[in-house]
Amino acid sequence: MNDIFIRGLKLPPKVRGVTVIDSDSNFNVYINTQLSFETQEKAKKHELTHIIKDHFYDCEPVIHNEMEANAG
Ligand SMILES: [Zn+2]
Repeated sequence: MNDIFIRGLKLPPKVRGVTVIDSDSNFNVYINTQLSFETQEKAKKHELTHIIKDHFYDCEPVIHNEMEANAG
C-alpha cells in the first residue's frame, strides 16, 4: 500500500516519465530510458513531487499540478 516503485522503461521520446497507480494503491513510476541521465533524474523528481503532493487524489487542474511539480 502506497509503496513507490521506480523503473526504467523505453517510452516515446516526448514522454519523460509517467506514474501509474495500481490496484494495491502503489505508485509505479516509469522513467524514459531514452533520455539522458540528467533528464531522467529530473523526471524522477518531477513524478515524485506529484506523489508527495497528492496530485493523484486532488481536484486541481492538471496545469496547476504540473507547475507545482516543475517547481520541485
Ligand atoms: Zn507531471
